[in-house]
Amino acid sequence: MAVRIIRINDIIDEVLVHHPEADISLIQKAYVFSAQSHEGQTRLSGEPYLSHPLEVSYLIAQMGLDSVSVVCGLLHDTVEDTNTSLDDLDELFGEEVADIINGVTKISQISFDKKIDQQAEYIRKMILAMSHDIRVILVKLADRVHNMRTLGYMKPESQKRVARETLDIFAPLAGRLGMGRLKAELEDLAFYYLEPEIYQQIQDGLARKRGEREQYIKEITAMIQEKLASQGLKGEVKGRSKHYFGIYRKMQAQRISLDQVYDLIAFRIILQTLAECYETLGLIHSLWRPVPGRFKDYIGMPKTNQYRSLHTTVIGPYGERMEIQIRTQEMDKIAEEGIAAHWAYKERRQVQQDDNLRFSWLRQIIEWQKDLTNPQDFLNTVRMELYPEDVFVFTPKGEIKELPKGSTPVDFAYAIHSEVGHQCTGAKVNGRMVPLKHELQHGDIVEIITSPSHTPSRDWLQFVKTTRARGRIKQWLKTVERERSITLGREILEREMRKAGLNLGKLLKSGEDLQRVAREMSYVRIDDLLAGVGFGKVSANQVITRLLPKEEQAPVEAEVPSKTVAKATAADRGGIKVKGLDDILINLAHCCNPIPGDAIMGYITRGKGVTIHREECPVLARTESMRHLPAAWDGVAGGRHPVRIQVISVDKPGLLADISVALKQAEANVLKASIETTVDQKGLSWFTIEVTDTTHLAKVLSAIKRVKNVISVNRVMR
Ligand code: MN
Repeated sequence: MAVRIIRINDIIDEVLVHHPEADISLIQKAYVFSAQSHEGQTRLSGEPYLSHPLEVSYLIAQMGLDSVSVVCGLLHDTVEDTNTSLDDLDELFGEEVADIINGVTKISQISFDKKIDQQAEYIRKMILAMSHDIRVILVKLADRVHNMRTLGYMKPESQKRVARETLDIFAPLAGRLGMGRLKAELEDLAFYYLEPEIYQQIQDGLARKRGEREQYIKEITAMIQEKLASQGLKGEVKGRSKHYFGIYRKMQAQRISLDQVYDLIAFRIILQTLAECYETLGLIHSLWRPVPGRFKDYIGMPKTNQYRSLHTTVIGPYGERMEIQIRTQEMDKIAEEGIAAHWAYKERRQVQQDDNLRFSWLRQIIEWQKDLTNPQDFLNTVRMELYPEDVFVFTPKGEIKELPKGSTPVDFAYAIHSEVGHQCTGAKVNGRMVPLKHELQHGDIVEIITSPSHTPSRDWLQFVKTTRARGRIKQWLKTVERERSITLGREILEREMRKAGLNLGKLLKSGEDLQRVAREMSYVRIDDLLAGVGFGKVSANQVITRLLPKEEQAPVEAEVPSKTVAKATAADRGGIKVKGLDDILINLAHCCNPIPGDAIMGYITRGKGVTIHREECPVLARTESMRHLPAAWDGVAGGRHPVRIQVISVDKPGLLADISVALKQAEANVLKASIETTVDQKGLSWFTIEVTDTTHLAKVLSAIKRVKNVISVNRVMR
């Protein structure tokens, strides 16, 4: 790349274009200071280091930012890379400059490539710095652009890392700030380093058909111009290839090759007034057939990054899809330059305030980052927020809410308030009741129905889209499950202690002894110990042994797992998974004898861990639903399980023998059999047999059914 060397006068000229009244002396002073500070330093390219701040501040000047920003561009690396202190900058250039450089330096000091929590910290700091003064991020973006342009001088492994970071964080951030052109440049530069081969393919592919494409652009442009002229409209028509990364994304999303990407070219029509935009849209649709569902009115409903434009896709003269954007000059400027465009026209302070309002998503992240202590959750939130794949929906009062695509009324409810989310029982979309997992669409009016007694359901985790909703639901479930296991642990201990002559109530009151035991068993608090007992991580006996004075301690009995209360290990859990509880005491209910394949439900017993019942078990139905726990077979269930079946038959001798043969052939062990004759001369027999799962049982049942004289056969509870 032949690069023109930027000199200070280029920067000053550029600043004067946008701000004829700008304070040039401050820029000159910053230039001299930067040159002195970086004296003797070189870039990896071998150039004097000063070339970098010059390039960065030139980019800032091109964005039309104020002279303070341009000064910051010149000074942005002085604190990090030279002996300069923030106090020096404050003294020489004022507080505003020092503040911005402070923000920029803070962002640079955190390394991005390490662990996830550091990444989260990085973004957290960046966002906070940004919220303080948006110019921090604009300077940082300019810095990043120049570093990306000169990335070729870095070591290959550093290239990939920086490129990845650019694609993950900086390009989407530029997008969210509405800086379309900068975003495209960052994406293409990063793409070049991350996927060099695919980049090359696209480049070659585009080069091959350049002539054809130029001819096509000419032709279409002329057709549009003619149509506009026929209605006395004057507009500028541009046609150009999408940027490489945009094409790549399209290839990926639609799983197609470059040759199959038909709309490589996007046309843009730029007009004088808003009314002309809509008029032009009508003309285009009369000229070519619009593709249904592809029209988007970002003028009526601007994106949160202030992007405004009409988008449509039509079937062109050769049966090809053509994307057309229609907008005014001002909209075009904002689409290309985003937040920077706003700067060009306004007073400093006012801009800061306006931007804070305008970029409400930024405020939202700042709000949310307080709640999200888990770095991964925070990163997910930020990533989701940075990508503009959103739907806009409304509250009944007309307040707009922006949610990621695929969001549901539950996401919406949590976006309003955690309590609204927790208590959400139903939702109306555009006045009609919908299921809670209903996918929200652009423009929906969403009304949430709440009930104070309602609580979140684990099922919601299956369909919620926002990390906020997910986090809140998980947090709630965790609290509830912990409370449940504390209660359970308390009950188990109470019962076992009574047998040992101890009083849990008293021990809890003084707390001392239990606290000691908790510590001994590596728990922080007594509640943690109780929860441990409830979960089955420790047994009541282990706790009791530690509470008794040494001489009274019976020789510690080996803990023989009883048949019903087995310490749950993966093997003897019988392949049952209780949602949310990995290590809990499990036993199968004898009332309904669940077997793998049955729909099951856990019940927290008083003192015996969790008993697994069949969902339709009448015993379970009579228990408190507060103590129910969702459970499922884990898919690895082995072994054989007892099942009771009832056979009704014609009362004939030899039938039992026939059924026994059928059972044997179906490979079902018979544990127990009994037979009686009813008053109406029917044979009524019961068998307890062993089967592996419901599939096996079905085979057994149909085998018995085929036995002569058998009228019906059923599985019974007991
Ligand atoms: Mn720099």
